[in-house]
Amino acid sequence: MAEKKFYALPDLPYAYNALGPHISETQLKIHHDKHHAAYVNGANALLERLDKARQAGTDVDMKATLKELSFQVGGHTLHTLFWANMAPAAKTSKEPKDTLAEALKNEFGSFERFKKEFSAAAVSAEGSGWAALAFCGKTHRPLVMQIEKHNVNVAPNEKILMVLDVWEHAYYLDYRNERAKFVEAFWNIVNWDEVNKRLEAILATLK
Ligand code: MN
Repeated sequence: MAEKKFYALPDLPYAYNALGPHISETQLKIHHDKHHAAYVNGANALLERLDKARQAGTDVDMKATLKELSFQVGGHTLHTLFWANMAPAAKTSKEPKDTLAEALKNEFGSFERFKKEFSAAAVSAEGSGWAALAFCGKTHRPLVMQIEKHNVNVAPNEKILMVLDVWEHAYYLDYRNERAKFVEAFWNIVNWDEVNKRLEAILATLK
């Protein structure tokens, strides 16, 4: 039988201090090395629990296990997308280009309108959650999503292009309670090339 694979914490695609002053080195290091790592470990522990129960022929609480697995895998997946859709401010363009720029203009009317809707989704997420830019596999329209926790309000047709983590653990060291300031700072470090690549990859599968 093939050896079973587990989730792995990806390295950041830049140095821990590379997103300053928008995200500080300490904030980013704790977020990646502690919080993201905890989701990876949590997801793997659940897979191991299932493996062991299958080997031993014992029952598991499927409802509780699968609910937690959705949360942990969601956390791992969203953080992995998040690191890669950011880049040092000096290396990013201020606005999207190419296919992404056109898709956003078609859907939202303007880049500014998209920013406004995405920021509002991020600022207004209740408790812990994310703002996301997704692409609907059915309508082929980009859409703003607000994900609660790591896994609530996500629909199967939505393919995620870009995310912003607005859990307190993402910004509290740098911004304390001022989430809106963190959301504003995020726009300086969006890796638009990466988001554009994700969109083009999805569009290529639709042709
Ligand atoms: Mn996080």
